[in-house]
Amino acid sequence: MVVSNAELHQDLRTAVGEICRRFPDSYWRELDAARAYPEAFVKTLTETGYLAALIPEDYGGSGLGLMEASVILEEINRAGGNAAACHAQMYIMGTLLRHGSDAQKREYLPKIASGELRLQAFGVTEPTTGTDTTQLKTMAVLHGDKYIVNGQKVWISRAEHSDLMLLIARTTPLDRVKKKTDGLSAFLVDLRTAVGKGVTIRPLRTMMNHATTEVFFDNLEVPTRNRIGEEGRGFRYLIDGLNAERILIAAECIGDGRWFIERACKYANERIVFNRPIGQNQGIQFPIARAHVSVESADLMRIKAAELFDARRPCGAEANMAKLLAADASWEAANVAVQTFGGYGFAEDYDIERKFRETRLYQVAPISTNLILSYLGEHVLGLPRSF
Ligand SMILES: Cc1cc2nc3c(=O)[nH]c(=O)nc-3n(C[C@H](O)[C@H](O)[C@H](O)COP(=O)(O)OP(=O)(O)OC[C@H]3O[C@@H](n4cnc5c(N)ncnc54)[C@H](O)[C@@H]3O)c2cc1C
Repeated sequence: MVVSNAELHQDLRTAVGEICRRFPDSYWRELDAARAYPEAFVKTLTETGYLAALIPEDYGGSGLGLMEASVILEEINRAGGNAAACHAQMYIMGTLLRHGSDAQKREYLPKIASGELRLQAFGVTEPTTGTDTTQLKTMAVLHGDKYIVNGQKVWISRAEHSDLMLLIARTTPLDRVKKKTDGLSAFLVDLRTAVGKGVTIRPLRTMMNHATTEVFFDNLEVPTRNRIGEEGRGFRYLIDGLNAERILIAAECIGDGRWFIERACKYANERIVFNRPIGQNQGIQFPIARAHVSVESADLMRIKAAELFDARRPCGAEANMAKLLAADASWEAANVAVQTFGGYGFAEDYDIERKFRETRLYQVAPISTNLILSYLGEHVLGLPRSF
């Protein structure tokens, strides 16, 4: 099954690879130096329909599975690009698709599929709550036919380049809910009208080019018709999307890992020191081979997780394991590539240092390795709950 799927996806890989070739290393390098958004790349990916892979055909998308979506993101990273510029649209859209009303889906999904609207921003994390989402302080208080939102978010990526934001805010204070996971709600915020009228976005400069921001809400008015699903069930909607997010991120890591290994092999074959290619030294060869093993093994778990997801079978354990293994494998491959390139691993012109910075993120975000281990310990292995 695994092999036949890989063959089936070859056409998709080739097509995405062709698009990526139009955006060579120099494109990403220059954007990185300027900390600029890959506008032309995202536009092309949207116009060619790849960003709408998961949107059903009835709403103008291509109705593909998560496996295919993951192949698209993997190929972007494998070609030396960074799918983080647009990956969130794939998994945020799922919340709208699964929990939105018919009217919301009819209004937004075709426009997202065509590229008329971008849904790239996901507003969850807050400065004082971090990973503990149940402690979110941003409040949305109902007044007639609208909610008034006040609070602050941090690390909200692509907010400056998105028309819509999926916002998670508290609608019932924590001390008035039975379970701490109750009382959070999901909203679709129209950033085109909200910025300057209750929303302020401040860019955050980070070690890689990620277009991430702080977002402040000051009496922002959100119409009740923009709430997704039932009031108070936002945490569950969030959880519903996590497996997809983890599998897609795992695929990006696999793409990064393969890119690092390809580059390391090429350099190790070409670079002559002591009158022989450095790759002839097993001290250089073995770490590359070991990183290859890590990436390929992680890919097996990613494929298993994606197949289970697409078959609508439980895949929480596999999605988490795939994300952990793939993030570790891409980081191992990144380190090996830097070592293989020696001093040039640090030179901007070789792109290794750029991708090294980019792939480091996946140990921390969108979910940190510790939290994955904690999930596996508690929910898969039956160990005591620690928080
Ligand atoms: C570049 C970037 C882009 C991001 N984009 C978005 C975005 O678009 N939208 C969004 O909502 N968020 C985004 N995030 C936020 C990201 O999801 C969080 O940074 C991440 O979930 C960790 O939260 P934190 O930074 O507050 O760390 P904290 O929760 O403060 O944790 C700090 C460290 O402690 C560890 N830790 C915490 N509790 C435990 C525990 N119980 N056991 C063991 N270890 C623990 C964590 O694993 C972590 O390593 C982004 C972050 C970055 C850096």
